[in-house]
Order: sequence, then C-alpha cells, then structure tokens
Amino acid sequence: MKGAIIAVGREILTGKTLDTNSHWLAGELTAMGVWLKRICAVDDVLEEITGEISYAFSLGIDLLITTGGLGPTRDDMTLQAWAQALGRDLELHPRALEMVEEKYRTLHTRGYVTTPHITPEREKMARMPEGALPLPNSVGAAPGMFLEEEGRVCVALPGVPGEMKAIFLEEVVPRLSRLLEKKGNGRVLLQETVRSGFRDESLLWPLVRQVMDEEEGVYLKTLATRFGPDVDLEVRVEAWGEDETQARRRLERAVERLKEVLQGARGA
Ligand code: ATP
Repeated sequence: MKGAIIAVGREILTGKTLDTNSHWLAGELTAMGVWLKRICAVDDVLEEITGEISYAFSLGIDLLITTGGLGPTRDDMTLQAWAQALGRDLELHPRALEMVEEKYRTLHTRGYVTTPHITPEREKMARMPEGALPLPNSVGAAPGMFLEEEGRVCVALPGVPGEMKAIFLEEVVPRLSRLLEKKGNGRVLLQETVRSGFRDESLLWPLVRQVMDEEEGVYLKTLATRFGPDVDLEVRVEAWGEDETQARRRLERAVERLKEVLQGARGA
C-alpha cells in the first residue's frame, strides 16, 4: 500500500510550526508496512489543498492522510477540499454532529466553554464529504474522517498533535490493519547501519550502489556528515519483505555483501 501525507497549515510554511505530525505518522505507517511515497505541506487555501489531494492520487497513492484544518474557523477547510477533490458534496453528517454536540456538552459541564449549544462554527466541524465515516476525537472537538473510494483510503486528522495521534491510534490503526491484511500487501521494513571505514562519500557511493544493484528488495544510503581525518561514514541498509522472515533474509545478505565489498575496496 503506497501512502502519502499532506500537512495543511500556513504556520508550517512560515516556519512557526515544525511539522512533527508527518514525522510521527511516517514512523507509524512505515512500521505498519505502508510504503510512504510523499510528504508535503500546503497553505490554508482551498484550491491548493484540493490540488495536492488530486495530485497525490494521480501518483497512484492508495492511502492519503491529511493533518490540520478541521477546526471551527473559516481557514479550516480541509474537509471541503476533500469533498471537492473526490467530487462529492459536503454535507452535515448526523453522527459527526452528535460527536461535536456531545463534546461541547461535556466541555460546558466541566466549565471549559461558556455555552453547550451548537453554533454555525461548531456545526462546521460536522460537515463531511458524502459517504465519509466520522472518527471520534477523544481529545478535542473536531472529528476525523475515514473514507474508502475505489480501493483508495482517505483519512483526515486534526492538526493538534495530541488529537491527531489519538484518532490515528484509536480509530485509524485498527481499520488500516484490517485493510492491509485483506490486501496482503503490507511490507515489513528492517534497517541496519554499517560503519564503512571510508571518509569520502564520493568514493564510498559506487561500492554502495554496486550492492544495491546486486541485491533484491534493499535500499542503501550513505549518511553524509562532514569532511575530516577522523570521519567514518555510515551506510544505512534498508530491506523490505512481504513478511519479517523475507525482510530479515534480505537485510542479512545485503549487510554481509556490503561488508565484503567494503573490505575488498579498503584492502585494494
Ligand atoms: P482542531 O480541529 O483541533 O482545532 P485543526 O485541525 O484545525 O485542529 P490546525 O488549526 O491546522 O488544526 O492546527 C492547530 C495547531 O496544531 C497549530 O496551531 C499547531 O500548533 C498544531 N499543528 C498543526 N499542524 C501541525 C503539524 N503538521 N505538526 C505539528 N503541529 C501541528
């Protein structure tokens, strides 16, 4: 399953907010076997969010997650963009409305908000693309969204990291695990870092590429640091497989071969 993340929010583009949501999600998705192909950040502009969603799908993405822009204000328009990109109407979802109502009743009882009533701003958070499934938000007010269309999975999560993580772990992971199991195309990714004994990346790279070309299902990357007499550059070896056994076998073979090639070149 190929995945992509779109982080929505001007504050990311102005350097005010560091996009930790994508960083965290990338780790979680990779661990689940999703092959993440793209992460991008986009302004709070309807056409731009819509454009990025459509573009991701044009790349053949099966799982697309947006974070941010689900709140009550006018610049929160991620769900409208989803509706537009999918060619669906944005409509008031009765279950999502119940979630928002319940949340504000609780917040009011606790004295966190002055009124429990549904205002147009609060109602806005319950407007979802037709056919969407609202996901309960155990931390904040805005429900997330889950929608499957023609084998593609569409997910919208809030921007606030605590809310994003809660909805992802509580609501998205169980659904995604089932889908990955059903499709049978989950991937296990294993990694190992090898010290190369080289200090010049330009000399190291041809050797690393040779191993990458020889071995199946692996990706090797030289980790650049700085120049200096004491540098010992590392190489990260990533191997994936349909299951842990296949990934482990590929990783071990590639690491062994890399060590052989490096030793051969150092000795030469
Ligand atoms: P809510 O629905 O809970 O109101 P929202 O979906 O409207 O949230 P935003 O208004 O986009 O979310 O963002 C709320 C706050 O969350 C931001 O001000 C920022 O502090 C944080 N945030 C947003 N996006 C990210 C991100 N990608 N990484 C880390 N923090 C983020």
